[in-house]
Amino acid sequence: SKFVYDFTEGNKDLKDLLGGKGANLAEMTNLGLPVPPGFTITTEACKVYLDSGQEPAALRAEVTEHLEALEATMGKKLGQADNPLLVSVRSGAKFSMPGMMDTVLNIGLSDASVSGLATQAGDERFAWDSYRRLIQMFGKTVLGVDGELFEEALEEAKRAKGVRVDVDLDAADLKALVGQFKDIVAKETGRDFPQEPREQMDLAIRAVFDSWNTDRAKLYRRQERIPGDLGTAVNVCSMVFGNLGPDSGTGVAFTRDPASGQQGVYGDYLQNAQGEDVVAGIRNTVPLADLEGIDKPSYDELMHIMETLETHYKDLCDIEFTIERGKLWMLQTRVGKRTAGAAFRIATQLVDQGLIDEAEALQRVNGAQLAQLMFPRFDETAKTQMIGRAIAASPGAAVGKAVFDSYTAVKWSRSGEKVILIRRETNPDDLNGMIAAEGILTSRGGKTSHAAVVARGMGKTCVCGAEELEVDTKRRCLTAPGGIVVEEGDLISIDGSSGKVYLGEVPVVPSPVVEYFEGRMHAGADDADELVKAVHRIMAYADRVRRLRVRANADNAEDAARARRFGAQGIGLCRTEHMFLGERREMVERLILADTDADREAALGGLLPLQKADFVELFEAMDGLPVTVRLLDPPLHEFLPDITELSVRVALAESRKDANENDLRLLQAVHKLHEQNPMLGLRGVRLGLVIPGLFAMQVRAIAEAAAERKNAAKGDPRAEIMIPLVGTVQELEIVREEAEQVIAEVEAARGVDLKLTLGTMIELPRAALTAGQIAESADFFSFGTNDLTQTVWGFSRDDVEASFFTAYLEKGIFGVSPFETIDKDGVGSLVRSAAEAGRATRPDLKLGVCGEHGGDPESVHFFHEVGLDYVSCSPFRIPVARLEAGRAAA
Ligand code: PEP
Ligand code: MG
Repeated sequence: SKFVYDFTEGNKDLKDLLGGKGANLAEMTNLGLPVPPGFTITTEACKVYLDSGQEPAALRAEVTEHLEALEATMGKKLGQADNPLLVSVRSGAKFSMPGMMDTVLNIGLSDASVSGLATQAGDERFAWDSYRRLIQMFGKTVLGVDGELFEEALEEAKRAKGVRVDVDLDAADLKALVGQFKDIVAKETGRDFPQEPREQMDLAIRAVFDSWNTDRAKLYRRQERIPGDLGTAVNVCSMVFGNLGPDSGTGVAFTRDPASGQQGVYGDYLQNAQGEDVVAGIRNTVPLADLEGIDKPSYDELMHIMETLETHYKDLCDIEFTIERGKLWMLQTRVGKRTAGAAFRIATQLVDQGLIDEAEALQRVNGAQLAQLMFPRFDETAKTQMIGRAIAASPGAAVGKAVFDSYTAVKWSRSGEKVILIRRETNPDDLNGMIAAEGILTSRGGKTSHAAVVARGMGKTCVCGAEELEVDTKRRCLTAPGGIVVEEGDLISIDGSSGKVYLGEVPVVPSPVVEYFEGRMHAGADDADELVKAVHRIMAYADRVRRLRVRANADNAEDAARARRFGAQGIGLCRTEHMFLGERREMVERLILADTDADREAALGGLLPLQKADFVELFEAMDGLPVTVRLLDPPLHEFLPDITELSVRVALAESRKDANENDLRLLQAVHKLHEQNPMLGLRGVRLGLVIPGLFAMQVRAIAEAAAERKNAAKGDPRAEIMIPLVGTVQELEIVREEAEQVIAEVEAARGVDLKLTLGTMIELPRAALTAGQIAESADFFSFGTNDLTQTVWGFSRDDVEASFFTAYLEKGIFGVSPFETIDKDGVGSLVRSAAEAGRATRPDLKLGVCGEHGGDPESVHFFHEVGLDYVSCSPFRIPVARLEAGRAAA
């Protein structure tokens, strides 16, 4: 195979092999843009090196061949004494890892060629400055010398001369500095700075390979979920110089504003400088628009190139360029990062420009970006005092009083205070405090730290790894740079979308995108927000192409109505247990305690009208759309008092000799119902089979409510009755027989045909494995992927996220919790085979999913692919599910 590609040989689609930078340099070269000639060493070569510790045998000869071609093109040889060719050696992986890996500039300079460079450039100072930069960069990144040593020597030289900036050092100063730098290298490494140009180049290439595996690169990859075995390509590029005087310079540019998407001239320019000077912030840059006044021909050419790039890539590009004595050179381009809002705006702008079609526009945005746009945010016009910025771990805008331990967080929040929990890092003991807090701020840990993982799971705002903030949990305070101290009880504000931390209270404004979905803001209005217009259009594209329908998990009329405004096409899961809370709990208690048929019937009779009234409201809110009502699912003990609390109460009462009869019976019942593994115990369909009359009461309430909607209100109720936790078709058959009898009774009494359907959840492995049989008795399946994940993995859904998942994520066992994104290989393959088996039995079997995965972007794509009819998710996730269903189909 071939390990080296000339820039003229590659193209933008070869990112796996040439890395992002190399592929795009090749693309620009082939577009005829002014790219300094060069070549790219492939990621394959890097992989061989990383695996074996040796460059592939063929590499040296291939590099020689390409170097000779480059020398021929440039008309000079690498390091040639009288007219040296100099090259840069840069890393460039498939995915951009900004600042994580190494770069060395000015390779080819030596004691022999420095004066040749001076003569050629007509600039003695420039030549010595370039040489000192080479030794400094090479010394640090290739030879591993502590960079501080060079920095100190440079500072000392400036101090000695009484100047502040390095441009004030003249050729003689820099020549002296080169001598000092060489001494540092010799002293620190025990060898002289290599004078042989090819040796410099080979060592630099190897250093770039090695930089793939530095600790910071590994950490970055883990956080960004970039695979560890991709390796980096190495770009060897002939040097152009932005530091040859005022007619030279370097800059960065965007083809449009990455924050708003607006078209215009965005970027920065620095005269008489090389790229690192811009990044290092040594001197102040000027806005790119000023380049027009500095060098009009270069500016015009740059504008023209930017247009070419946008039209070619059909997307926002970012660019690095250098001007050498009035000649413009392109050093890099790539499709640029952008904010969530800009992504939507750019996608619709590009459609309007005729550059992309609607299907492509859908691929330019994603559900995570839409979700981000739906969080409330800090008022951008407010005056703020930022005290730190760290990792944006879980989005949202949170304001509260600073607290430094979970106990205080819980205590304060119980008394109605809003709090921000601040910790160095969190651990499972902090869980209560995290639940109580508005947001979480930590000074250690990255995107996969405990705080980040748990906060994301809870949908709570979190900023983590704020290392510049010193957290002192003993003294209960936080110290920010500049000596700003935040004491317990002081107000702070954290932005989980940007990672910014502010002192005091920053006002929060509702998201315009939510205002739009709620119908309080109209995309058609003249003064409508540009973002809202863009979101409106993209949602319309998605709705037009998607095959999956989107329903809501909702169990009251208010949630149902919101879901409908957000575009829900029905309810996929109404959890009836949520209707048994509050004062109704006592009625359930009575049902559980009943030991005669009469008592039980009385208890059920009390519940029936309440249930019916709930369903009437729900069917009204969802009139004309399907509503899947699930019969009671959770273990009964959830409706009874806590075993410990009740035991203590009874024991105390007994010691006072005034134990009450009801408490004693309750305690007995609690003991009787106590289970070691309640999630695998008496719940779901098992309740219906064990407690006579329970499911019949619920079915009657559904049927009566539907009849009432039909008769009295001339409505169009479309109820679907769903049986949870079925493991075998026999369970379903028994429940079905009873339900059909109840429905027939109601239909006869009310004189209506209710067209009720009856189906089951598939949430146990056995149900999935015998789906073909179960389908004989089910009109529909709804995959309960929460329980299915729990039972397939053997992970307790209520405990694991807070216990060992952090360790699992850190060890890379999975990149994301299987409760968040469907585990395609395991749980997903059961979903796929059960769907196929079910449809084989009953071709018109309706298939949906109502676990949390129904609103997760990646999972939605999977459900589209396996051919489900709908996904069901919480009301706020409906727009995300609609968008992703559209993206999956486009
Ligand atoms: C499920 O298990 O996926 C489900 C939707 O039911 P619940 O979350 O109520 O157990
Ligand atoms: Mg379940």
